[in-house]
Amino acid sequence: MAVKLYADPACPDCARVRAWLAANRVEFEELGTAGSDQAARRAAEAGYGAPVFPVVETEGRTLARPSDLELAELFGRELPAAVETGCLIVGGGPAGLTAALYLAREMVPTIVLEQALPGGQVNTTSLVENYPGFPQGVDGPDLMAKLAYQARRFGAELLHPVEVTGLRAAGDGHEALTAGGSVFRSGAVVVAAGSDYRRLEAPGAAELTGRGVAYCATCDAPFFRNKTVAVVGGGNSAAEESLFLLKFVREIHLFQHLPELTAQRHLVERLAADPRVHLHVNSEVRAVRADARGAVRCVEVRDRAAGRDECVAVQGVFVFIGRTPNTGWLRGYAELDAAGFVVTRPGSVATARQGLFAAGDCRSGARAQITTAAGDGTLASFLVRELLGQRQARRADAVVGG
Ligand SMILES: Cc1cc2nc3c(=O)[nH]c(=O)nc-3n(C[C@H](O)[C@H](O)[C@H](O)COP(=O)(O)OP(=O)(O)OC[C@H]3O[C@@H](n4cnc5c(N)ncnc54)[C@H](O)[C@@H]3O)c2cc1C
Repeated sequence: MAVKLYADPACPDCARVRAWLAANRVEFEELGTAGSDQAARRAAEAGYGAPVFPVVETEGRTLARPSDLELAELFGRELPAAVETGCLIVGGGPAGLTAALYLAREMVPTIVLEQALPGGQVNTTSLVENYPGFPQGVDGPDLMAKLAYQARRFGAELLHPVEVTGLRAAGDGHEALTAGGSVFRSGAVVVAAGSDYRRLEAPGAAELTGRGVAYCATCDAPFFRNKTVAVVGGGNSAAEESLFLLKFVREIHLFQHLPELTAQRHLVERLAADPRVHLHVNSEVRAVRADARGAVRCVEVRDRAAGRDECVAVQGVFVFIGRTPNTGWLRGYAELDAAGFVVTRPGSVATARQGLFAAGDCRSGARAQITTAAGDGTLASFLVRELLGQRQARRADAVVGG
């Protein structure tokens, strides 16, 4: 792996990183600001305009001012068997990164453990049109790269790929166990592990996701103005999202594989009363077909009662067959609702277990938007700060009291 270190003579962290690379036998090429402007350019890019040194660049990743822990993870060195921090965040999507940004800025030592890439689900969407402040929309991965850097800039350590496999109590805090065998100890843990949309398992669905197949009406309905769309699903979310879609689309073909819709009666009645909605029960979507330009052309549907197949012409497909929270590893430690989402106190992100918080899409009742996830992350940071402050004050009182 080719490794480059962009350094500046006056930078205090450059010596530390240089020494770490040497001690860990990582071969690298160093480029300084003297005699070449490449280092200055890369430093400015890495800091989004404000140069930051050192920058470590490998073939796949660039890290500005990495901590020793981040270097260990980046170069596949063993992480220490036990790491202690002020707040541990599980999940590096908008909820986790926002909590990290707030906490690190308040100088709370903060580590984010992310099993894949920082950014979460937003990395899968190229155009976010409803994030405030971007009138022309914003590229999802770009927004998340900036958020990740913003959190790191204030001192949050972001380790990935590190999967958390379990939590256990330790004193008045918690210990997170990772798939690699490390233990992270912390007085407060924010679970921001998100959820996955249950995907439509039908030929064409995966390939056309983001190009006609969608999983979020709030996010994508405006792209389907005056079009005919299919809705897959028959529960409450399918019914509610269909009613929302009707503000935009010309008509909806709703396909439910069961003999009837399972949504609440008043929702079903509203759908049935709208002439723009065509309800198809006993109907299983078996494929999504595209035209020569790659645009959705029709959904292939099996009428289970009649045993007949037909391709119903639509220009888009919305799939609402549920979300699966990434919380299996929390079972037995945090209260989960029937679908597996983390239960928090009403109007809060605090769970019943002290020092354990849940933010974003993995929280029961979450609205599954970037803004609401970021809002949860912000609230979690306030509660963590309060908790750690109270503990610190108690410890100080105990010392004074002898
Ligand atoms: C295709 C698509 C388009 C979307 N478009 C929009 C849009 O336009 N506007 C909008 O507001 N919202 C949109 N959303 C929804 C939005 O992306 C989510 O609501 C938001 O990302 C939720 O943030 P989160 O931080 O709670 O969870 P996530 O973004 O899901 O992040 C959770 C992170 O936790 C990590 N993780 C999970 N388990 C573990 C573990 N055990 N250990 C370590 N890490 C773990 C995951 O890898 C993931 O990176 C879209 C979603 C999708 C799928």
